[in-house]
Amino acid sequence: MRSLMWFRCDLRTRDNTALWHACRRSTDSVVGVFTICPSQWLEDHDWSNARIDFLVRNLASLENDLGTLNIPLRIVQTPRFDGVEDELLKLAEETGCSALYMNREYAWNEAKRDEAVATAFMRASKEVHAFTDQVVFAPGDVLTQKGDWYTVFTPFKKRWRDRYKDGDAPESLGRPKKQPAIDVKSDDIPKKIKGADRGAPSVRPDLWKAGETHALSRLKAFIENRADDYDDRRDIPSENGTSTLSPYLSAGVLSPRQCLEAALNANGGRIDSGSKGIVTWIEELIWREFYKHVLAAFPRVSKHRAFKREMESVRWRDDDEGFEAWREGRTGYPIVDAGMRQLAQSGWMHNRLRMVTAMFLTKHLLIDWRRGEKHFMRTLVDGDLASNNGGGQWAASTGTDAQPYFRIFNPTTQGERFDPDGVFIRKFVPELAAIRGKAIHAPSEAGLFESGSLDYPPPIVDHREARERALKAFKEASGG
Ligand SMILES: Cc1cc2nc3c(=O)[nH]c(=O)nc-3n(C[C@H](O)[C@H](O)[C@H](O)COP(=O)(O)OP(=O)(O)OC[C@H]3O[C@@H](n4cnc5c(N)ncnc54)[C@H](O)[C@@H]3O)c2cc1C
Repeated sequence: MRSLMWFRCDLRTRDNTALWHACRRSTDSVVGVFTICPSQWLEDHDWSNARIDFLVRNLASLENDLGTLNIPLRIVQTPRFDGVEDELLKLAEETGCSALYMNREYAWNEAKRDEAVATAFMRASKEVHAFTDQVVFAPGDVLTQKGDWYTVFTPFKKRWRDRYKDGDAPESLGRPKKQPAIDVKSDDIPKKIKGADRGAPSVRPDLWKAGETHALSRLKAFIENRADDYDDRRDIPSENGTSTLSPYLSAGVLSPRQCLEAALNANGGRIDSGSKGIVTWIEELIWREFYKHVLAAFPRVSKHRAFKREMESVRWRDDDEGFEAWREGRTGYPIVDAGMRQLAQSGWMHNRLRMVTAMFLTKHLLIDWRRGEKHFMRTLVDGDLASNNGGGQWAASTGTDAQPYFRIFNPTTQGERFDPDGVFIRKFVPELAAIRGKAIHAPSEAGLFESGSLDYPPPIVDHREARERALKAFKEASGG
């Protein structure tokens, strides 16, 4: 039997659950396929240039790696998800494949697309095999004692860890076995996807090198050199304190099991004791799982809806000028501006600053979180619907486990706390580089605008007034 392996957000050969099983069960080799859907990606899903560029480079690397296993990689292009089923079926017929292998995806449109493909294949009397791969535990496998979905992180984490300690987590699978050579040739991998250019700056490829070998060495370097200090350094954006593995996890160049195993191996197998840094890092991997569970359990969050229904009635402001200032890093709040400029320049933003900037947009400017979510997706190299929506709704107090609306970060204090010497601000807001000491966090309060020598805007909103305005709007929406 020959099988078709449909790659999506799982661009690797090692520990790829569907690929591993396809290679084990097929008796007459495996054909790989990747579907490119430019309109769906760009218009409906807001994929960024950075993400598409990263994907294309990783596809080329995957094709190479698959070549060493005698697996060709075919490329199928359709503008949107509808129609994918016909194209895949055509390819299966053409290459003589009688079974389809894929790893499950949890966003609404992807799940519907997969259902349509599975139905079409089964109607054509072909086998369909779908696997859990994007997460350690599948959505629905970590439930409360009553059998409900968790909507709060801490008890979810506890149950997740208990399941791990009970030995329920699958081990990573390694590299699949080499297949017999076949007469199907790989397609050329396009260097660019037509239309995938929003005019946003492309990020430097050397910041995000492609390929699973690189991803694994990045993981190794983090675990060996930085993971133990993660708890102390992860909130300081000027330090290289986090793993920067998110683009690799989002595109599936690396699996969560590979990350978990590397962390546990370095921590004597302990998941909640031992190295504080490693325990905290594993917690972040569990956050990633939590948001995937939320996405699967509450599909409305996939459809631009607030998780908390009452928060649908928040009266957001129409403020294009404020939005542009936020987007371009010209709000007059140095830590916010530094974060937004890091995003524009690298396609990535430090987690602390994602929280600070997303909250500034939704609380200080009272602009709808959906505008921020879209901008992040359109810029991030690691764009991931579940985590971006989860994080954005957390900051806006509209989501699961969200920050209570009355806890509003003071952006000046956030800068003082997490960039005390202004190292990060000086790097990304060079206009402020010459300012000495604490004044860098609040140049307006230090009277630095009076001289007229500073090419930097005064704050676009006053923190106290903006806070009061947000409290009022959220109180009204929550009926309080
Ligand atoms: C508003 C907002 C938007 C976000 N958008 C995305 C996104 O589109 N894609 C994305 O991968 N992450 C997103 N995050 C989560 C987090 O900011 C990034 O995963 C993290 O900054 C990536 O850096 P790292 O790889 O160095 O993480 P590390 O600190 O090394 O963590 C390891 C891994 O755990 C996962 N992770 C870490 N923190 C979180 C978190 N809070 N939620 C979910 N998963 C987490 C990521 O996969 C990350 O690579 C968002 C957070 C916020 C507040």
